[in-house]
Amino acid sequence: MSELALFGGKPAVTYVGTGKNDGTDMFKWPVITKEDEEAALSVLRVGGMSGTNVTKEFEADFCKWVGAKYALGTCNGTAALHAAMFGCGVGRGDEVICPSRTYWASCTSALTLGATVVFGDIDPNTLCLDPKKLEAKITSKTKAIIVVHYLGYPADMDEIMAIAKKHNVKVIEDVSHAQGGLYKGRKLGTIGDVAAMSLMAGKSLAIGEAGILHTDDIEIYERAIAFGTYERFSKDFQTEYLRPLAGLPLGGYKHRMHQISAAVGRVQLKYYDERCATIRKAMNYFWDLLEGVPGIRAHRVDESTGSNMAGWYAAHGLYVPEELEGLSVTRFCEALRAEGVDAVSAGCNLPLHTHPLFQVADVYNDGKPTRIAFTDKDVREMDNDLDVCEDIGARTYSIPWFKNYEPEVIEQYANAFKKVCANYKELLADDPGNPAQLGGWHFFQHTAKKKA
Ligand SMILES: *Cc1c(COP(=O)(O)O)cnc(C)c1O
Repeated sequence: MSELALFGGKPAVTYVGTGKNDGTDMFKWPVITKEDEEAALSVLRVGGMSGTNVTKEFEADFCKWVGAKYALGTCNGTAALHAAMFGCGVGRGDEVICPSRTYWASCTSALTLGATVVFGDIDPNTLCLDPKKLEAKITSKTKAIIVVHYLGYPADMDEIMAIAKKHNVKVIEDVSHAQGGLYKGRKLGTIGDVAAMSLMAGKSLAIGEAGILHTDDIEIYERAIAFGTYERFSKDFQTEYLRPLAGLPLGGYKHRMHQISAAVGRVQLKYYDERCATIRKAMNYFWDLLEGVPGIRAHRVDESTGSNMAGWYAAHGLYVPEELEGLSVTRFCEALRAEGVDAVSAGCNLPLHTHPLFQVADVYNDGKPTRIAFTDKDVREMDNDLDVCEDIGARTYSIPWFKNYEPEVIEQYANAFKKVCANYKELLADDPGNPAQLGGWHFFQHTAKKKA
């Protein structure tokens, strides 16, 4: 009989979690303690759900923690990114550059501002915006570059900032995957002009439905407030042209953060760096065990450079099918799931530029696709140079996202990967190949997943 569990062998993984979110399970996240519960209850008890006092405290904590002058809490990360774009002056006819492989909220709200998205390609090893292909995307209409530290990997900020400065373009860091991460010793989010991120329940800094933006630029900050936080849009703003407009939200949006999220956020933030360090220890151990195994590569940064993978959000690995005689990542993942690696699935975020919303949809009745409603050229045709974005699905897969450092458990999972790679030849015969689309538009499981 084959060793592979897919063919009747003994599964490599025997780990059964505690199923509790008290810090004892390898995967359950976020860790919730009495302190989080008390913080949430305290908001309920005083009826402060729609207030702003706790949110302002959270913002102050966040500024201190990340090293920023100003922060604005929002109802979700989508709102934070929307406000950040408006903060940078993105408007009618403008272009924002964003990698095509990301969650849609990194850039999609640009369309509501009358701007369009020009998609950039990614680097096949970092999975972040490739600076080598970036400059060719910049035009006189480019207002901002949206950088995503994708799946925790810090994007190549030195190169990107140099290009942005040269062309006088703002940089928005989408830190939804990498809160607290470092790039060459600098906190992610403090390198560009403004950072915006999700803090929703599936992220590594998970505090509820919430988001935050931060910046050192008072004009960006005040514009962001003016856009969707009417009750804090005041006649005393330093940005003179905004003062007479105070009172109503310029965007017509309401971005206020729920204070239960803010209260939980204050508690989560206290323990976050320590918990992330444990995650990184566990994830680095997993990849150390797999160093040199043909067919797979770590998606991780070299920490000796002063960079790190933050809370290693939605951990993924790189796949090299050429080293396994072309075995599809689909078949590879099937064999791993049989070994008990539940979390593994092929691909990552689907490339946004291929979705009909960015190709044909006329969302606002302009009589032409929204993507090109206010441009004088068809930016959709620039997308034929997104080679890496188009192919990377077949070269990526999700891996277990360990929250605790338990070497024996991590070894079980690493052994599953080793076993599948060592016995890959047995998988070639019935390899169905990859489907046309690998991955999904989003990762978050909206309902609890049962263990099979
Ligand atoms: C989750 C996510 C967002 C959006 O945040 P929400 O809080 O869900 O609105 C934005 N960008 C990226 C990269 C994300 O993963």
